[in-house]
Amino acid sequence: MSRSILVLNAGSSSIKSTLFDKHDDALHVRYDGQIEGIGSKPHFLVRDGSGHLIHEQTWIDPPLGRGHAYALEQLAAWLDPQLPEDGLIGVGHRVVHGGPRYSAPVLLNDTVLRDLEYYVSLAPLHQPANLAGIAATMDFLPGVPNVACFDTAFHRSHPLVADRFAIPRELYDEGVRRYGFHGLSYEYITQTLPHIAPAIANGRIVVAHLGNGASMCAIREGRSYDSSMGFTALDGLPMGTRCGQIDPGVLLYLMQEKGMGARQIEELLYKRSGLLGLSGVSNDMRQLERSTDPWAAEALDYFVYRIVRETGALAAVLGGIDGLIFTAGIGENSALIRARVCAGLEWLGVRCDARANEQHGPRISTPESRVEAWVIPTDEARMIAMHTARTVLT
Ligand code: ADP
Repeated sequence: MSRSILVLNAGSSSIKSTLFDKHDDALHVRYDGQIEGIGSKPHFLVRDGSGHLIHEQTWIDPPLGRGHAYALEQLAAWLDPQLPEDGLIGVGHRVVHGGPRYSAPVLLNDTVLRDLEYYVSLAPLHQPANLAGIAATMDFLPGVPNVACFDTAFHRSHPLVADRFAIPRELYDEGVRRYGFHGLSYEYITQTLPHIAPAIANGRIVVAHLGNGASMCAIREGRSYDSSMGFTALDGLPMGTRCGQIDPGVLLYLMQEKGMGARQIEELLYKRSGLLGLSGVSNDMRQLERSTDPWAAEALDYFVYRIVRETGALAAVLGGIDGLIFTAGIGENSALIRARVCAGLEWLGVRCDARANEQHGPRISTPESRVEAWVIPTDEARMIAMHTARTVLT
């Protein structure tokens, strides 16, 4: 018998939704929908399981001030007639922050929702949108179980030393910790690895999740050991528009010398920094690779430099590495960035096979390479669907 699971990833300016049909242990995508441009000119696209566009809609005049709620209503209206007659097994939600408490997906109830509300202060840009998605689903699909799947959960296995900042202890106790993010992506890669690269699956792995948001994770024996992201999804690697690692003294300078307030600094570090800030051209890797602007080249140099530097740090905490995995938009598609990162890691025993890399792998290291290098596409929605099925059916 086929049963269905809805996955919702409600972000601050986009909402992604995927409907999976579950046949025994296999999950097939029935629809994949995406609303972009919430708050400006929302655009809704739906593709079927083969990737064919089956619905497209732009809202010219969305009601002012209720962009997010309106987008969720429109999504619900479109989904309603598509839902299977025998209903859904459950809805899986991507939730950015599970705080110190949640190290696994959890069935949503009032107590859990109260905790997640409390964690809004830890992720003020993302958690409210996630919670709005949950509230809208509870209204639209009463009686269907909802499961929260956290970006932080996979990293709860970090040792204490990787979970801390060197600031007074009471701040740690109130939740100022190095949480790490992109956990659903790392978990998906980790559980895929035994099928793709069994020789290294149980070893010391560094995964580079290089998308518009970018981070890296050190994994040992299938468990997260450390991550480049810390308290927020701002730390570590430079990203499309986010700065990555920065000396906190810069923030003091911006406040004291430039008179900038928290909102302005937040906007600068989240929206105007990273590849966009460095290049002045774009936050999009495809455009930067095509550009002849020397600042675009400098942005790429910095991106590669920081990935190499971070890999060295994560390899050191793992005591060496057996595998290096590239994933997400840039990691899966940019042969140039992968080749440059691998060249910077030859000292670590990475030997890139240029031809395999141009063909996007999956294996991109030579047979002699001491470290296996792979390109593995991530699938966070599928990971959430698997968690939802497990949580609801057991
Ligand atoms: P997110 O999910 O964090 O929004 P993605 O994982 O979709 O981001 O990655 C988006 C990034 O991937 C963009 O910088 C985009 O330019 C880059 N990208 C996608 N395809 C290619 C490609 N063929 N070559 C280089 N970069 C690519």
